[in-house]
Amino acid sequence: MPILKDFKFHSPVTLSEGLSLLEKAKAPMLLAGGTFALNYLKKSSKYPSDVISLKKIDALHGIKPKGQGFWIGATTTIAELADSNLIKSGFPSLFEASAKLGTTPIRNMATIGGNIASRFYWVDLPAVLVSLGARVTVATKKKKETVSLEKFLSDKQFKKYILTGILLPKENRLSFYFRHTRTAQEVDVPSLGVAFSGIKRGEGVVSVRCIVNTASSLLVALRNVETLFEGSQLQKINAGELKRAILEDAQNTKLDEYRIHLLNVDLEKLSEILKKYNP
Ligand SMILES: Cc1cc2nc3c(=O)[nH]c(=O)nc-3n(C[C@H](O)[C@H](O)[C@H](O)COP(=O)(O)OP(=O)(O)OC[C@H]3O[C@@H](n4cnc5c(N)ncnc54)[C@H](O)[C@@H]3O)c2cc1C
Repeated sequence: MPILKDFKFHSPVTLSEGLSLLEKAKAPMLLAGGTFALNYLKKSSKYPSDVISLKKIDALHGIKPKGQGFWIGATTTIAELADSNLIKSGFPSLFEASAKLGTTPIRNMATIGGNIASRFYWVDLPAVLVSLGARVTVATKKKKETVSLEKFLSDKQFKKYILTGILLPKENRLSFYFRHTRTAQEVDVPSLGVAFSGIKRGEGVVSVRCIVNTASSLLVALRNVETLFEGSQLQKINAGELKRAILEDAQNTKLDEYRIHLLNVDLEKLSEILKKYNP
C-alpha cells in the first residue's frame, strides 16, 4: 500500500490567506474534494511541500445570482449541483452531467473547481460549461481576473492560482448533454460527451454551441453542426445534412468512426427533440 510522505498541511479560512500560502510554498498543491488530488499524492513522484485545503474558505462556496447570470463557487460539490433547483431549471445540461458524474460518494466529495482545474481531457463538466458560455474567475496573489473558460483551459500561463468561481449567463438557453461510456458500469468515465446549447427563437434556434469532449484531446467545437442549426428552421434540417455536417467536423477534428456514429445518433435525437419543443 502506498504510504504518504511528509508535507505541511494548511487549511486557510480566507482567500487572501490561501493565496499567501500558495505564493510562499516551494511546491504547493491545492486540495478541494481530493478525488484526484489524493490519488496523485499516493502515486506521483513530484511530491508537494505544502498541501493547501480550500474547504474552509467560505467565499469559494455556493450558487447564487450575480449580475445578469449566476455564480457557482469553485468548492461547490457536484452533489450540490445535482441537487439544485436553480441549476435544474436554468442549466439542464449541467444538471444532467452532474447527476451522472461518478458515484454518490464521488459526487459528495468532488467539486466543480477541481473538475475544471485538473485539466483532464475526459472529465464531464468543461464541455458543458463551455457550451453554456461560462467564464471563470481566477485569483493570484497579484491579481484577480475573469476569463472565458475556453481561454482558461487552453492557456497554460496561469501559475499559482486559485480558481474562485464560475459565472454563467442567464439567457434562457435550451441545453442538452449526451454522455457515452465504454462500459455500462455506473462509475465509468465518459469516452464521449456532447454538449449542445442554443436559444429557441420562432421556428429555429440561435446562438448555438455544440462542444464535444472526445476524452483524448482538448474540447472540440463542432462548427459545421453549429452552423447547420444556427437560425435554421428546425423542421427543414434532415438526416443527410446532419450527417454531412458531422463528417466535415470529424475531418477537422480527427474523430474516429465509433464516435462519429454516436454523434449521429445523439444529434438526430436532439434534432427531433428540438422540432417538438414549444417554449
Ligand atoms: C472513482 C472515480 C470516478 C470518477 N468519475 C468521474 C466522472 O464520471 N466524470 C468526471 O468528470 N470526473 C470523474 N472523476 C474525477 C473527479 O472526481 C472529478 O473530476 C472532480 O470534480 C475533481 O474535483 P475535486 O474537488 O475532487 O478535485 P481535487 O482532487 O481536490 O483537485 C484536482 C486538481 O485540481 C486542483 N484544484 C482543485 N480545486 C482548485 C481550485 N479551486 N483552484 C485551482 N486548482 C484547483 C488541485 O490542485 C488538483 O490538481 C472520478 C474520480 C474517481 C476517483
